[in-house]
Amino acid sequence: MNAELDLALERRIGKRSAGVIEKHLGITTVGGLLNYFPRRYLDRGELTRISEIPHDEDVTLIARVVSNSSRQMRERRGSITDVIIADDTGPGLKIVGGSDYRGSVPGTLKVSFFNGFRAKSDLQPGRRALFSGKVTSFKGVLGLTNPDFQVLDEDPDVPGVDPEALAARPIPIYPATAKLTSWSIQKVVETLLETLDLDSVPDPLPADIVQREKFLPAAEAYRQIHVPATTGDWQQARKRFRYQEALVLQSALARRRAQLAAEEATARRPVADGLLAAFDAQLPFTLTAGQTAVGKTLTEELSQDSPMNRLLQGEVGSGKTIVALRAMLQVVDAGGQAALLAPTEVLAAQHYESIRRTLGPLSRDGLLGGLGADSVQVSLLTGSMGTAARKQALLDAASGTAGILIGTHALLSENVRFYDLGLIVVDEQHRFGVEQRDALRAKANKPPHLLVMTATPIPRTVAMTVFGDLETSVLDELPAGRAPISTHLVGLAENPGWAGRIWSRSREEISRGHQVYVVCPKIGADDDGDFSPGEAEPTGADTDAGGRELASVTGVVEYLQQEPVLAGVSIAALHGKQDPALKSATMADFAANTTSLLVSTTVIEVGVDVHNATMMVILDADRFGISQLHQLRGRVGRGGLPGTCLLVTNLEPGHPSRRRLDAVAATTDGFALSQEDLKLRREGDILGASQSGGRSTLKLLRVLEHEDVIAQARQDAQLLVGKDPALAGQPALAAAIDEYLNPEKEAFLERG
Ligand code: ADP
Ligand code: MG
Repeated sequence: MNAELDLALERRIGKRSAGVIEKHLGITTVGGLLNYFPRRYLDRGELTRISEIPHDEDVTLIARVVSNSSRQMRERRGSITDVIIADDTGPGLKIVGGSDYRGSVPGTLKVSFFNGFRAKSDLQPGRRALFSGKVTSFKGVLGLTNPDFQVLDEDPDVPGVDPEALAARPIPIYPATAKLTSWSIQKVVETLLETLDLDSVPDPLPADIVQREKFLPAAEAYRQIHVPATTGDWQQARKRFRYQEALVLQSALARRRAQLAAEEATARRPVADGLLAAFDAQLPFTLTAGQTAVGKTLTEELSQDSPMNRLLQGEVGSGKTIVALRAMLQVVDAGGQAALLAPTEVLAAQHYESIRRTLGPLSRDGLLGGLGADSVQVSLLTGSMGTAARKQALLDAASGTAGILIGTHALLSENVRFYDLGLIVVDEQHRFGVEQRDALRAKANKPPHLLVMTATPIPRTVAMTVFGDLETSVLDELPAGRAPISTHLVGLAENPGWAGRIWSRSREEISRGHQVYVVCPKIGADDDGDFSPGEAEPTGADTDAGGRELASVTGVVEYLQQEPVLAGVSIAALHGKQDPALKSATMADFAANTTSLLVSTTVIEVGVDVHNATMMVILDADRFGISQLHQLRGRVGRGGLPGTCLLVTNLEPGHPSRRRLDAVAATTDGFALSQEDLKLRREGDILGASQSGGRSTLKLLRVLEHEDVIAQARQDAQLLVGKDPALAGQPALAAAIDEYLNPEKEAFLERG
């Protein structure tokens, strides 16, 4: 904690400014505002390219005034001043302004002011000015209405600066709001910099690193990022803060790794003639080389008396479950229990069924036997189970009767106790965060071993950032005999006729004895579907851009039951709002091929394993994210039969959201897709609260772009924490880590 940075903002910039900053930006401390960096910088000499400004967004741009005209309003009292502004590609001073302007001139923008007396007098043709407001379009004409503006040619606010130096000075553009312009923020920040003793602000970076990298000193960097004299200034400052961000993050992770490694776990050594050996002997297939290698690593780590903390990445269908099950059996052989945490009820139930099936005679039912090394009891615990079954499962977990407990996040709840929890397996990591991992770890007497599995391939830097506290293993091959999936984009906007083809293709599959999934973004006409937050990028609207209703499970079922080519086909519906018993029954029917066509939401996204399903139709596919689509299609082509996936969309070709679909159709390489996904999505979504461990998102660091910075910081952090686990010698870094991990602390202190 630092006295200066934690100081209330009003102590430095006055009550009034502080009030404004708190109201609009939610910032209350000196440190908060000091670290509120400009998003970009405008070059005073240049004009913004008007053709590139985003619509419907708050923008700040520099442009030259082309014309200025005013007129009285007819219906109301008052006047309108129309100012046409242009960039360098614009037509200069030639065009006709005011009411004759039709907006058809590229590189120009119409700016309207109601009763804009200052605009009328100050925005004379030829002047350059900074404009800030929301870009709207009216009858196809781009415009700004009542924006804030500041004339640049006569900058009155910088006394004593010679004009040439001023012209070179970049204009910082802060993340602004409609009510608080970038330059109002700039002014307040400048005041803060003047009243603050910057040299007393501690530097989280160790001095030797600053020296090695030739970074700016902290005080200098703060000045240059907020008030750069040249472009080089802010670039240098950014470089330093970017590294600082990476080091804080990596040190937090290194500290956590060190803490985890220092804990003492119970070693669960393999036994020669236990369940695992029996299981291996009865396996109907041979393990892939990857499964064998990862299995060996797990065997070794489970045998240590420090906890395993491992992430297992493996493409959809690469056979992660068997690997996990073998680890669980090793722990059971050694007298411990294993818990398998699944993200959804459907998936938990599926795991329960399939693990019991895979175990065959090695799986024992509750009432039959006592503890015996020749079989293991597998139990299921989910939130929606009946009271009696729940009680039994809780009892079995607490007494140690259940060797393997499978469940949803219900496993995290307070009343779940284990007799001796030795291993936690978390399936499909992307829905579980650090906090949940910790909640489950707390249930063991001693820290348990942890295996986290994810089917979403993770680029190296993301693995270092998001899962930096775990060691990583990869299963990079699919078991032999896995058939390829071909994916096709079906664009109904350009080929409306293809709608019928979708269902006749489905019929063909079904006539061959196979099964079909149909996935919809919504459950019913007025429902939000089973969207997992942060996955897809729904606009929140229930209709697409053309006002068309999105496909819903109930709507599509009704439609397909009338569809002549599907006459006689048994169709079922599955979604998250159904009664759990109904869901299980529906899945069981589909698994048994009693139903041929399953219309569902994304509840089938992860892990569902029906070998006979060969085709998947994803309706309004543009509503889903890349990794979600990739996961979904991994449900077909599982049984050695080639799979087909149709991505159906009503979006026009060239629509930005169609790029995701093109990417998914173009490759089945999950790694390439997750790179693409990262590029297309904002990283905040990826490093969101539940995944990053810390609650703040990254400011200057981009996980794809700055791989070198992250790798360097990771190495430095490892060294720092290795020498000094508590970072006692680096109090400023330790404070920055605390701040990163718990930014709400500030607000908390205020209240408390
Ligand atoms: P995922 O990695 O997506 O969780 P699963 O563990 O569900 O994959 O495995 C997918 C299917 O492949 C399962 O039916 C499983 O029994 C089968 N499988 C796993 N390993 C092998 C193997 N070595 N050879 C053949 N089939 C395998
Ligand atoms: Mg799986």
